[in-house]
Amino acid sequence: MKKKVKIIDLSLMFHKGMQTYHRNYHPKFKRFKSATHKTHKREVSTIQIGSHLGTHIDAPRHFIKNGKTIDQYDISHFCGNAILIDLSKKLKKTIISIKDVKKRFKNFNGKIVIFRFDWTDKYYGKSNFFYDHPYLDSELCKWLVRKGIKLVGFDSPQPDNPKNSFTKYKDGENHKIFLKNDVLIIEYLTNLKKIKKKTFYFIGAPLNIQHSDGSPARCIGII
Ligand SMILES: [Zn+2]
Repeated sequence: MKKKVKIIDLSLMFHKGMQTYHRNYHPKFKRFKSATHKTHKREVSTIQIGSHLGTHIDAPRHFIKNGKTIDQYDISHFCGNAILIDLSKKLKKTIISIKDVKKRFKNFNGKIVIFRFDWTDKYYGKSNFFYDHPYLDSELCKWLVRKGIKLVGFDSPQPDNPKNSFTKYKDGENHKIFLKNDVLIIEYLTNLKKIKKKTFYFIGAPLNIQHSDGSPARCIGII
């Protein structure tokens, strides 16, 4: 008998009023009808989405000058066997270190590593979403790179301590460690509690946008 697979949507919905990163160069989501049934006998929309809005993937260009862009990766880069690191019991503002991850799995080589905090599920749309989330120790980021992971994802806004953003020396420190090493970053995942397994098959499909520093992505877990 064929084994039944379960498909879980790990992405946020795009909608008017959705929370956007608090800088004016991160545009708000907009959609308007550029043709309607009344005027054109068909409906067509014009959509405005920032490259880092909603569930999305950061390409190296986001933090690395002249870094690779999203269209330079084959779609296979965004699909593969994933390890779920369940840290949903961790409190706000906690720093995640190598010891939180090390013993959970033996071989990280070539794997996609997904961190679960349930942060997007609990705080997306709230004022502390961008400020109080757990984040990674930079030594852990380097360790994951050394272990040969191919993609890293979070159900939170980012891998970095938000306090370091826009500071002189540590701005995007963890982003840079990953992106310099071709480990692309998936942010604002959701629904990870539905996975209920330590490993699963992950598909995160960014739009193939030429020269883009990132792209919204429809991310899917298959168990
Ligand atoms: Zn981003």
